[in-house]
Amino acid sequence: MEFSERTIKVIIDEAKCEGCETHACVDACRTYSRGILVLKDGRPAVEGDAEEIARKGTECLACEFACWTKGNSAITIEAPVEGLDAYRKKYGTE
Ligand code: SF4
Repeated sequence: MEFSERTIKVIIDEAKCEGCETHACVDACRTYSRGILVLKDGRPAVEGDAEEIARKGTECLACEFACWTKGNSAITIEAPVEGLDAYRKKYGTE
């Protein structure tokens, strides 16, 4: 599953959530953000429509960090940085 906040996209490979005992992503979202990530049928889920999620999301990245350190490395967050490609080309860091 995936959902978008204002500038980032959160992608969760739910197959990796199978057997996860910590559900650290949900705890992290509740602790460091606004709790838009909830546990539903043993898996992370979001409630509300896309506009509401985008408005509530704080783009804190806590779910990804928590999942990679305490869960099953199921979360990837895409956080595009405007001008990064041009910067890499200019300084040869591609
Ligand atoms: S911590 Fe990671 S593996 Fe565990 S439920 Fe959350 S997204 Fe899935």
